[in-house]
Amino acid sequence: MPDTTHSLPVSTDSRPALRGGFCAKELERLRGDYPLLGRRGRGGQPIAYLDCSATSQKPQCVVDAVDDFYTRSNGAVHRGTHVLADESTDAFEQARHRVATFIGAEDDEVVWTKNATEGLNIVAYAFLNASLDGHDMLGRSDDSEVVLRPGDNIVISRAEHHANIIPWQMIASRLHIELRVIELTDQGLLDVDTLDVIDEHTRIVAFTHVSNVTGAISPVDIIREKARQAGALVVLDTCQSSAHLPIDVKTLDCDFAVMSSHKMGGPTGIGALYGKKDLLRALPPVLGGGDMIADVDMKQSSYQLPPVRFEAGSQPVAQAVGWARALDYLDDIGMERIEAHEHAMTELLLEGLCSIRGVRIIGPKDADGRIAALSFLLDDIHPHDIGQVLDAYDIAVRVGHHCALPLHKFFGVRASTRASATLTTTPHEVERLVDGIEKVQHFFERR
Ligand code: PLP
Repeated sequence: MPDTTHSLPVSTDSRPALRGGFCAKELERLRGDYPLLGRRGRGGQPIAYLDCSATSQKPQCVVDAVDDFYTRSNGAVHRGTHVLADESTDAFEQARHRVATFIGAEDDEVVWTKNATEGLNIVAYAFLNASLDGHDMLGRSDDSEVVLRPGDNIVISRAEHHANIIPWQMIASRLHIELRVIELTDQGLLDVDTLDVIDEHTRIVAFTHVSNVTGAISPVDIIREKARQAGALVVLDTCQSSAHLPIDVKTLDCDFAVMSSHKMGGPTGIGALYGKKDLLRALPPVLGGGDMIADVDMKQSSYQLPPVRFEAGSQPVAQAVGWARALDYLDDIGMERIEAHEHAMTELLLEGLCSIRGVRIIGPKDADGRIAALSFLLDDIHPHDIGQVLDAYDIAVRVGHHCALPLHKFFGVRASTRASATLTTTPHEVERLVDGIEKVQHFFERR
């Protein structure tokens, strides 16, 4: 295990706040909340962590909340009479309330999942189950919005993470229904001119709020209105927006939304599926087991109301507690302030990257209408080589296809390098990245 001491002063640059960004003092204070940010990498410097779109680092208060739960309250939820079971159940349900208030939902509209991927799979497979049964949980068949039939179609976009492609492919082939695609503009934005794939046979339109490759924010209102006109339901993947923009599912007016705690400063192993109450009630369960039942007989059983209907088995209680603390932390700072800081970092990233000859940005070159996740190509240097050389300079970026192969193929490549900034990112870290990329370039030019 390398030395992880973090007694180094945090270099945040002495410049005043950049157009809405945190000033150096604020940044230093915020970064002090994250013990890992002082960690040195293989090259001996503190790691410039520019991979937060993959997973976020955790503030100490989240680590403490998990630790405190295990130290003082740990018990099985929903099924005990003793004090520890009661405290754990309270903490678990309070955490659900915390997630619900963070996204503008009601408590029983929030289903715990393992992550966003599981949330999307639960929605897709619940639709599959209702469709194979030929009726929903309310006993409706022909008039149920959750029963799909041959001739129906599902629409996704070419910009999706595989988590929002594969489950739909899997159920579409089982139900012999068509999977259609919203195409991309030259810049990799969802092309609203191709929305005519949504027609009166479309039942579900599933798309990402923000692309994890281009960082672009999708035109949610336009796509949702087109879906509504067709009578289709909207599934929104908020994995890349929920930690970076204020999110309100009622304003977004989606029918389902998914997110992952680990991208929001919370623990791994937990996420949430938001669903409008009536729709969750109509959907059959996907996993069966303990807790999700109302009654069990040897031939058949009945199920609880949502959200518990979708939460079979023992639940990630400590993770829920930690995630709730992470959301308190984000709200204490203020999502608008976080968005403004990350916008300032986006401007710096774009300015720096575009100043390097041979850099090709995958996606829009405008700082507006996007988050601080920037993917790029550098000459014909393979992204894995770029990532490895940057690591030698203690700069952590993401390389590969970022689980979005169709989008990469659209740009004629199979991989890119992605730098992503967050509320703790400093101008100095962006400078280190730009400097690091120039070093990568020189290194490969000399060979
Ligand atoms: N959707 C998007 C846009 C993502 O960026 C990711 C992860 O990177 C996912 C879905 C899947 O998230 P998870 O692996 O946490 O389920």
